[in-house]
Amino acid sequence: MLYDVIIIGAGPAGLAAGLYAARAKLNVIIFEKSGGGGQLATTGDIENYPGAQEDISGAALADRMADQAKHFGAKIVKDTITQADISGKVKKVTGGSGVYEAKTVIIANGGKARPIGCPGEAELVGKGVSYCATCDADFFNDLEVFVIGGGDSALDEAMFLTKFARKVTVVHRRDEFRAAKSIQDKLLKNPKVEVMWDTVIEEIKGDGVVESAVFKNVKSGELTEYTANEDDGTFGVFVFVGFDPVSGLYKGQVDMDPAGYIITDENMKTNLDGVFAAGDIRVKTLRQVVTAAADGAIAAIQAEKYIEHNQ
Ligand code: NAP
Repeated sequence: MLYDVIIIGAGPAGLAAGLYAARAKLNVIIFEKSGGGGQLATTGDIENYPGAQEDISGAALADRMADQAKHFGAKIVKDTITQADISGKVKKVTGGSGVYEAKTVIIANGGKARPIGCPGEAELVGKGVSYCATCDADFFNDLEVFVIGGGDSALDEAMFLTKFARKVTVVHRRDEFRAAKSIQDKLLKNPKVEVMWDTVIEEIKGDGVVESAVFKNVKSGELTEYTANEDDGTFGVFVFVGFDPVSGLYKGQVDMDPAGYIITDENMKTNLDGVFAAGDIRVKTLRQVVTAAADGAIAAIQAEKYIEHNQ
């Protein structure tokens, strides 16, 4: 069948696009890769989405968004899209369960956590190294954890980790955080939190689980090795040093900046007719749930207009 809109990605951008497209009576299918919800689903508490109640988790908000889109008729399908042929009039995307066709596509794949790239990191993922506090914090109940990074994600997740870990040490490569002042103030007041300023992690070591880590003070060049407390045997290393757009699928068809973010105009239009991009995957200055949702709404309404004028 020929859909009106294919939406790739079921984070806030994709789900908002699905909601608006479905309410415009378009025949819309949304693809989610794993559990859906995108980065929102692995975010602890959401405090800055207008109208969201205090203490609503990212996962709960994502579920509500999905239910709302479905309520108005959007179809949400679990399938990983591995090919996209979207330059022609009929857009074709291929997933594990077949080829899907549509008049328009909204690209809303978002981004994924960027690794540090230090020795030991890749080998110890899931064995003490993590990119998701919501997913893994529980494994570190009453243990020590290090959080690498100084942006909003690092500080938000560090706050979340204080609910589980005995001590949370934030390791930042500069002497001031990049994160919003509000979260900095909250974090620095927390008695469980310590900060290692001007410090990077050089190596993570362990046989089966994280057992030690080598840190370097970038100003003095001094190296220190932290070894897990004997009773604990291990500790956590949570990495939040930014993320990269998941845009490889569209390379060669859709215009991108050198970092791989998709270039759109203010109406979310890409260089291809009938192809729109929304959320964290596009070039923009503020990556938030609210801006992703707004992008999705705009993209859906523009897709509707495109279909109307290209019948
Ligand atoms: P980000 O803002 O790019 O911050 C990345 C942090 O990691 C920076 O502090 C950076 O240091 C540090 N870093 C980068 N590479 C490093 C390396 N190799 N070694 C050590 N440290 C390194 O990324 P993010 O925190 O993932 O946030 C991404 C976007 O989502 C941002 O626009 C953010 O505002 C938004 N976001 C918002 C919220 C919220 O509002 N609650 C929550 C999550 C994310 P420098 O500061 O020195 O560059």
